[in-house]
Amino acid sequence: MQADSTSRSGTGRPTDLIIFGGTGDLAMRMLFPSLYFLEADGYLADDARIIGAARGDLSRDAFLDEVHKRLKSHIPKKYYDADVWDRFAQKVDYKSVDATDGSGFEALAAALRIRDGSEAVFYFSTAPRFYGDLCAQLKAHDLAGPQSRVVLEKPIGHDLTSCRAVNDAVGAVFPESRIYRIDHYLGKETVQNLIALRFANSLLEPLWNANGIEQVQITVSETVGVEGRWSYYNDSGALRDMLQNHLLQLLCLVAMEPPTSLDADAVRDEKLKVLRSLRPISKQENALKTVCGQYTAGAVDGKAVPGYFEEGEGESTTETFISLRADIDNWRWRGVPFYLRTGKRLPYRYSEIFIQFKDVPHSIFPEESNLTLQSNKLIIRLQPEETIKLLMMNKVPGLGRDGMKLQEVSLDLSMSDEARSRRRRIAYERLLLDVLNANSTLFVRRDETEAAWKWVDQIAEGWRELGQKPKPYAAGSWGPSASVALTERYGHSWHD
Ligand code: NAD
Repeated sequence: MQADSTSRSGTGRPTDLIIFGGTGDLAMRMLFPSLYFLEADGYLADDARIIGAARGDLSRDAFLDEVHKRLKSHIPKKYYDADVWDRFAQKVDYKSVDATDGSGFEALAAALRIRDGSEAVFYFSTAPRFYGDLCAQLKAHDLAGPQSRVVLEKPIGHDLTSCRAVNDAVGAVFPESRIYRIDHYLGKETVQNLIALRFANSLLEPLWNANGIEQVQITVSETVGVEGRWSYYNDSGALRDMLQNHLLQLLCLVAMEPPTSLDADAVRDEKLKVLRSLRPISKQENALKTVCGQYTAGAVDGKAVPGYFEEGEGESTTETFISLRADIDNWRWRGVPFYLRTGKRLPYRYSEIFIQFKDVPHSIFPEESNLTLQSNKLIIRLQPEETIKLLMMNKVPGLGRDGMKLQEVSLDLSMSDEARSRRRRIAYERLLLDVLNANSTLFVRRDETEAAWKWVDQIAEGWRELGQKPKPYAAGSWGPSASVALTERYGHSWHD
C-alpha cells in the first residue's frame, strides 16, 4: 500500500537513518518494528537506508537475522508480511562502531551518502553518557553539517546540572534546530488527538480554564516491577524516570494556551510557558503536596510478586511511586489542582488524563436524582486502549412517579469504527516519520527539558532536606495510603 509523498526527507532528499545502539533493547523492540511498519505503509522511500551501528562485530547477515527474529517475536503474527520484510531488509545495513574510541566511524562515514547531497539522521539509542562522544565523532568525521539531524533518547540527564551538560555537549556540535529529543508519549495517537480536540473545536475552549474545570489528573500506572533493570531504575526513580518527562509533557498539552500554529516553535513556546508557570513546591508544602512510595511484596494480577528490595541489590531509598499536586500560576489555571501519579506494581496498567468539569451551579432535580447527578468528565486514555470519552448526564428513559431520574452516559469521541479496526500504531512510527521529514513539533526543546528539571529538582531537594523516605505500599495497591489522603485533602479523589 503506497501512502502519501512523505517518503523522503523534509527537503526531498534521500535520507540515511543511522541508529546508534542498533543492537539494543529499544532498537529491537520499538525502532525496527516501527520502521518495518513505515515500510509496509509506503512511508520509506525506495532509496531509504537504515544502518544499525553498535559495539559488537556483527556481519550484516547476522544483524539482519537478529532484527528479523526480534521483529517476528514483537509484532502480531497477522501483521508480518514476508514481502514487506524482503523489501525492508534490503534497506538495512550494519556497522560496528565504538563511541568512546572512534573505531568504525571511518567506515560508517564512507558508507553514508551525505557527501553526495543526501541527508542523515543520527538516532542516539545508547546510554546518554555516550551522547557527547557520539557528537564529537560525528564532527570529527565531517558528519555533523547542515544535512544531518540528531535524535536523543531519554533521559536527558538526571537533574538540571547533568541535563545542561548533555545539552551543552550535543549543542556544541548541532544547533538546536537539528536536535530532536524524543518523548515517545508525544507520538501516541490520543495525545495528538488531544491537540485536535482542544484546537479544532470551539466547544471546549470557553470551559477550559479555572471557571469550567474542577481538577485534572494524569496517571501513568504500571503493573510491572523493574524487570531486570534494577540498577538503572535505582539511579532514577519514578520522579525522574516518568514524571519529569512523560507526565509533565502531558500536563503541558492539557494546560497550554492555543499556539498560533502547529509549527514546532509555536507549540513548544506554549509548553515552555506552562513549565515556567508551575508553582515551586516549597519545603513547607512538600509533605502536603507530594507522596513518594516504594513497593513491598504483594500480588498483581493474582500473582505473588516480590518487593523492590528483594528484586534488587540491597536497601534503597529510590521511589517506585510518586503522586503530587501541581499548581499552574497563570490566569487560566489559578486554583485548579493538577494531580500527577505514576508508579510500578500498581493494580492496572493504564495511562490516562482525567478532566473533571465543575458541578452544575444549581440542581433542579428531585433529591434522589441529586445522588446520581455527577459533574461532566473528559477521560483520555493513552494505553492500553486509546480512547476519548466524555461523560454527560442524561435522563433514564421511561416513565416514573417520582420525577426525573438521571444517569451518566459516555460519549465516545475516540475514533470511527473504520479507524478502530486498523492496526494501532507504535508511538515511534509517528516520531520516526516526523524526524525523517524534519518536523520537530512533537519533539522536546532544550529549554523545556531544563525547565522541567528545574521544577522536579526542587521536589527532590525538598525530600532530601526533610529526610523524606519513600513510604511502603504493597504491590498491587494504589500506592501508599498518603496518596489517597493527598487528593482528599483538597476535596477530590483519584479516578481509579
Ligand atoms: P541497551 O543497553 O539494550 O543497548 C545499548 C546499545 O548501545 C547497544 O546496541 C550497544 O552495543 C550500544 N553501545 C554500548 N556502548 C557503546 C559504545 N561505546 N559505542 C557505541 N555503541 C555502544 O539499551 P536500550 O535499553 O536499548 O536503551 C537505549 C537508550 O534508550 C537509553 O538512553 C535508554 O535510556 C533509552 N530508552 C530505552 C527504553 C527501553 O525500553 N529500552 C525506553 C526509553 C528510553
